[in-house]
Amino acid sequence: MRVREKSQHVYLSSCGVIPGGVNSPVRSCKEVGIDPMVVSHGKADTIWDVDGHPYVDFCMSWGALLLGHADAEVVDAVGKQMARGSSFGITTPLERDMAEKVTQLVPGMEKVRFVSSGTEAVMSAIRLARGYTGKNVIIKFNGNYHGHCDALLVQAGSGVTLMPRASSQGIPEESLKYTLSLPYNEIGVVRDVIRGCKDLAAVLIEPIAANMGVVPADETFLSMLREETQAQNALLIFDEVISGFRVGAGGAQAWYGVEADLICLGKIVGGGLPAAAFGGRSEIMNFLAPLGSVYQAGTLSGNPLAMQAGLTTLSRLQEEGFYQKLQDKANLLLLPIEQLIEDRELPLQLHRVGSMFTLFFCSKKIRSKEDLATVDLQAYQRYFQALFHEGIYMAPSQFEANFISAAHTEENLRWVRDKIMRYLVCNYAL
Ligand code: PMP
Repeated sequence: MRVREKSQHVYLSSCGVIPGGVNSPVRSCKEVGIDPMVVSHGKADTIWDVDGHPYVDFCMSWGALLLGHADAEVVDAVGKQMARGSSFGITTPLERDMAEKVTQLVPGMEKVRFVSSGTEAVMSAIRLARGYTGKNVIIKFNGNYHGHCDALLVQAGSGVTLMPRASSQGIPEESLKYTLSLPYNEIGVVRDVIRGCKDLAAVLIEPIAANMGVVPADETFLSMLREETQAQNALLIFDEVISGFRVGAGGAQAWYGVEADLICLGKIVGGGLPAAAFGGRSEIMNFLAPLGSVYQAGTLSGNPLAMQAGLTTLSRLQEEGFYQKLQDKANLLLLPIEQLIEDRELPLQLHRVGSMFTLFFCSKKIRSKEDLATVDLQAYQRYFQALFHEGIYMAPSQFEANFISAAHTEENLRWVRDKIMRYLVCNYAL
C-alpha cells in the first residue's frame, strides 16, 4: 500500500479553496474510491505523485499526450516560443502553419478555426451548423460527451454518465428545447427520428465514443447518418476531440471512410497545451465572422505556445510508421489479455481501437450507453485500486478511455500487462 501523505495534504488544502479540490470532476477519483492523484511531474510514460511514487500513466492527460509527458522536442519548441512572447491576440505565421498542417491531415477540412478547449470547439461548431442551415435541432447520442455547454449536457458521458437526463443542475429546460439525445448505434430508431425532423440542423456524434469507455460506432450506423443528414440538408458533425490524430492522422473519418461536414478537434491538436479546433468545407466555414454572421471569438485562440506544441506533435505523427508502432505497443499490452479473456471465458469485455482501450467489467457486449447498466462498477474500483498501488494509473472511471502514447516503453507495457493478467487470473479465473 502506497502511503500518500503529501498528496492527501495537498488535496485537503485544495478542498478549502477549490470546489472538491479539483478543477474538473473526473479528477476527483470518486468513482474508484481513492483520494485524487496529486501529481508532481511526468516524463515519457510515467508520472510521479508529490510523495515521490512513480506510476505508468494511461490517462495521458485524457488522451492529449500522444507523445507522452515532457517530450523533448515539444519542450524545446514551447520554450523557444515562450522567450519570443506567449500571447499576442494578433495573427502570427504559426497559426497559418498550423492551419495548413491540420487541413492537410484531416479529410474534407478546407478551413479550420482554433479555439482553446474541446467544449468551445463543439459549441462553436453547432452554432455554425445552425447558422449555415438556418435550422435549430441538434441530435446527439446518449453516452457521448461533447464538453459542458448547456445544450449538449443531456444524457452525456464522461463524468456525468450516471446522472439523469439533464446531466447537470443550472441548465434551463429551454436550453434543451432543440436537443434530442438518442441511443448510440441504433440504426432504425435514429433513422426514423432524422427523417421526421424538418428542423434538423445537425447530427453530432463521437464516431468512436470514448466517454462511456471506448465504444466504437458501427460503420453502418455512421454511413446511415451520412446519408440521412444529407437527405435532410442537415450537417453531420464528428466530434473527434479524442479520436482525431489518435486512431491515425486522418482520425475516425479515415478509419471508417465516412466524411463529416464539420469536424471538432481537441487534446492532441494542442500537443498538451490548451488548443482545440473546428473546421470543414470553406463554403460552411465562411459563415463565420468576419466573413459571415456567425459570431465566434477567443482571446487565446491560436495561442502561439499551443500552436508550437501542436505543430511539433503533428509533425511527429507524420513520420513513417508512427501509427504502426503505436499499434504494435497496443498489441503488446492487450493481445495476451484478450487471449486470456477468450480462453478462460472471463466475464470481461476488452474494447480497443488503435491506442485507446477500456476493460469493461461485464459479460455482455457494450454497444451503447444503455448497455452500461450491466457493468460492475465495484469490480472496476477493485481493479483500479490494485493496479494503482502497484504503480499503474489507469483511467479513474469505468466510463473513460485509457491511452497508450508513443513514449510507452515495451518494458513498461510488458510489466503492466503481466500485472493485469495476474490480477485477472487471481480474481476471475480460479
Ligand atoms: N468532446 C469530446 C469527445 C471529449 O472527450 C471532450 C473532453 N473529454 C470534449 C469534447 C470537451 O473538451 P474540453 O474538456 O477540452 O472542453
